[in-house]
Amino acid sequence: MSESHFDKEKSIKIIEDSDVFEHEKVVFCQDKATGLKAIIAIHDTTLGPALGGTRMWNYNSEEDALNDVLRLSRGMSFKAAISGLDLGGGKAVIIGDSKTDKTEALMRKFGHFVESLSGKYITAEDVGMSTKDMEYVRMETKHVTGIPLSMGGSGDPSPVTAYGVYMGMKASAKFLWGSDNLIDKKILVQGVGHVGQYLVKYLSEEKANIFISDISSEKTSKIAQEYNVEVIDNNNVLDFGMDIYAPCALGGILNTQSIDNLKCSIVCGAANNQLEDEQRDSLHLQERNIILAPDFLVNSGGLINVYSEIKGYSREKSLDKTREIYHTTLNILEKAREEGITSYRAALNIAEKRIADRKNK
Ligand code: NAD
Repeated sequence: MSESHFDKEKSIKIIEDSDVFEHEKVVFCQDKATGLKAIIAIHDTTLGPALGGTRMWNYNSEEDALNDVLRLSRGMSFKAAISGLDLGGGKAVIIGDSKTDKTEALMRKFGHFVESLSGKYITAEDVGMSTKDMEYVRMETKHVTGIPLSMGGSGDPSPVTAYGVYMGMKASAKFLWGSDNLIDKKILVQGVGHVGQYLVKYLSEEKANIFISDISSEKTSKIAQEYNVEVIDNNNVLDFGMDIYAPCALGGILNTQSIDNLKCSIVCGAANNQLEDEQRDSLHLQERNIILAPDFLVNSGGLINVYSEIKGYSREKSLDKTREIYHTTLNILEKAREEGITSYRAALNIAEKRIADRKNK
């Protein structure tokens, strides 16, 4: 078992520009009184302050929590960079069970640590967090986004995220079939939660041939009552022949085995970190002639929405900016074809170049 990164004596330990992490700063925060154990990872602030949500999860080990926050914060840097936002990448994880370990005191203590970073890191809601929790964090720091509409914030980002995925899907269709019309296209939305349900709405307005799956039959029943969709068993997703597969549940869904079985022409969905191994799995998809719309590009609508909150919120402006995902996706797919690289690599190249160009200015 590896040694703890948390300091035995002090409540905060900051590791900066180390050889171990490619991150600018990794902050280990703990508070005995509230039981808080959190890690804040700031990947890169070249383009602006590092923005990314706080996730609370019952990790099996500190190492798992650290790996998760390092990977997620890195992804945020690229998401912001490719979307043309003046933001860096960061993320925070709180180790614990969000159902039993979360208290007002714990969330406020976490807010206190965020405040101590003087705006270099801006937090928001993520898995295991509620709007109420963010209100507690807000009591200790102003460096929070994703505040409810009623409090002058940008509210739920999911409809905007779904709109971006829809734009990415249309662009992928245009690239592959020469038309972005999705009418009668057989599309499976896996995971009909916050984002998935709005994606179904957009696809249904376009009269696509929609199929849905979820581990929750309650959710699929609700959507099936509202829209003209067919529910398929979540265990049969990989055997299902479809034009477009939209993973909108969990990450890591695309791996050697699942890609071998996948029967679709395009993958475009909201889930973060869909590829279990970025390089291996994006190459595998390319070999199977399956178009991949990179997740960190097409699901950036939510980030665009909270960014707009920092700048003075307008839903119209958020949607306008999110619409640009269409052209960026098309551009990336064309670049990948021209250069003989995967779409994922092409997207990373653009994001990395934007950061490098600003660094060298
Ligand atoms: P959510 O929790 O509201 O919905 C997820 C849905 O997936 C739920 O209905 C759940 O029952 C279902 N699900 C869970 N495991 C499943 C499985 N193994 N198979 C099928 N269904 C399963 O989450 P959300 O906010 O809709 O986000 C969906 C994905 O999009 C996540 O990966 C999230 O990180 C990513 N994302 C969300 C946003 C946003 O604005 N909410 C922004 C960017 C990325």
